Amino acid sequence: MSIQDNLCQIKEKIHNAEIKAGRKENSVKLLAVSKFHPVEEIQEAVNAGQTLFGENRVQEAAEKFEILNKNNNLQLHIIGQLQSNKVKKAVSIASCIQSVDRLDLIKEIEKQAAKIEKKIEILFELHTGEESKSGYEDLTSLAESLDLCASGNFPHIIPKGFMTMAPFTDDEKLIRKSFITLRESAEKLQKTYTMFNLKELSMGMSADYEIAIEEGSTMVRVGTAIFGERDYSKK
Ligand SMILES: *Cc1c(COP(=O)(O)O)cnc(C)c1O
Repeated sequence: MSIQDNLCQIKEKIHNAEIKAGRKENSVKLLAVSKFHPVEEIQEAVNAGQTLFGENRVQEAAEKFEILNKNNNLQLHIIGQLQSNKVKKAVSIASCIQSVDRLDLIKEIEKQAAKIEKKIEILFELHTGEESKSGYEDLTSLAESLDLCASGNFPHIIPKGFMTMAPFTDDEKLIRKSFITLRESAEKLQKTYTMFNLKELSMGMSADYEIAIEEGSTMVRVGTAIFGERDYSKK
């Protein structure tokens, strides 16, 4: 199947999952995760109408999206663990950084965004069970970061919500539990931090996005199901 066919099919599945879950139509955005896939394949997705993309590695994303963005108005989200020395470039190419997992990173994002007078959206990544332990470990440390955002320390940063990765397992219960944890954490934090609109719940990947939609996802991050398997030997 072509990338265009895959996109079409996934959008239909998203649509059906929205209806099945009693959610509003078009309440779930599709982030096409194009890491490890070449410009030509991403261009196919663009030709099929896709404008929202996610990449893990800043340098790779910069190289590809510099070419792609020449004629297209694309939005790029950074979704992979981000080292502080990559923040400058990340801020310059992305509209949102989804993998915010520590206060130091927020400070660096603010610093770099201020330099180029750009406002940038962020999602707080919460660790909810995935093995690699990316994301904030608990709500206390996440709330510390939100406290500082709420006191107006980071005028170039717009907190939009939360992101998580479910554990890599076939156990649907564990996957669902991870998504429920994110949703409930988000609801709790939103009650405290009413100055922010923390509605975005970025959860669900190729293998589990329909479950994520049932549990309230507003953005699914789908790579393999659109572009096929990644060839890690190329990089
Ligand atoms: C790679 C990646 C995805 C996409 O995973 P697929 O299983 O290929 O859909 C989603 N989110 C994050 C954070 C990723 O690193």
